[in-house]
Amino acid sequence: MEVNAGTGLHPISCCYDSEEACMEALIAMKWRNGFVCPRCGYTQCTRLNSRRIPLFECGRCGHQASPLVDTIFERTHLPLLKWFHALELFLLPDGISAMRLSQVIRVTYKTAWFMLHKIRHTLGESDALELLSGDVKVNCDRYGGDPSRCNQFPHPNGLAVVAGCTVTEAGEPEQVKIHLISQKRGERIVHRHELVEFINRQVDIPTSIVQSPTLAFKLYIPLRRVVREAWDSLKSTYVALGPKYLQAYLNEYTGRRQLRRSGAEEETRLQKLLCLCMAIPAISYPKLIARQSNPPFPIAA
Ligand SMILES: [Zn+2]
Repeated sequence: MEVNAGTGLHPISCCYDSEEACMEALIAMKWRNGFVCPRCGYTQCTRLNSRRIPLFECGRCGHQASPLVDTIFERTHLPLLKWFHALELFLLPDGISAMRLSQVIRVTYKTAWFMLHKIRHTLGESDALELLSGDVKVNCDRYGGDPSRCNQFPHPNGLAVVAGCTVTEAGEPEQVKIHLISQKRGERIVHRHELVEFINRQVDIPTSIVQSPTLAFKLYIPLRRVVREAWDSLKSTYVALGPKYLQAYLNEYTGRRQLRRSGAEEETRLQKLLCLCMAIPAISYPKLIARQSNPPFPIAA
């Protein structure tokens, strides 16, 4: 595959090589089965191309609908090409830091940071909507805290998490959720009511058989391995993460893992991520930075 000599990263998919191509792809995702007026439900419209973002004027009520309303791209001032490139880089096995992204797509660090958090928000909201169902395993575990690494990284003793997953026929974790438990002073274990709350909120109980060993030595090991992999992956890209946004980064890890593990081609992964970005409204900057450092459990970051 061709690699961009300047960045060492793969160039953006050839299908999305212009603003027009990106916009047409988003319009097709917004109205898969053709235009539907968001105000009156009518399906005939006139396309107005006089602005950067085309508008679709309803043939009955005259409402002018933008394809980007209620999506991650709403009110963006950036070229869609930069967004598409960012989404593609986000899907790299270990993601991309805001610093690196800012260099590659040539935006400020703050813009890159906010873009990545918007993508994490999308994955978090998507995760919250998809309950675990079927053969479900749940562990009380810890994120981070490998004692052999002393205090070189944050969370030397690990942070309490509840992890849950569905299991493939081959016995591997499929859809995974890793949720931080609100940390009261000095408490680093998961209490039984927190485990029960996770199961009640994250598992589709009527359609599931839930196995949740409460003893540490009986943990479902393949799921523990995923929690370790999340730690290794996030640490390799972000080095040090404070607790304030950690849940969002965990959502990033599990969301990307889900998009990548389906065995789909890069092109398809990007399309799946784009579909989520078109289906879930963006988080605003004030709302993002107002997030509490110890979010109440459970969280949809
Ligand atoms: Zn209408």
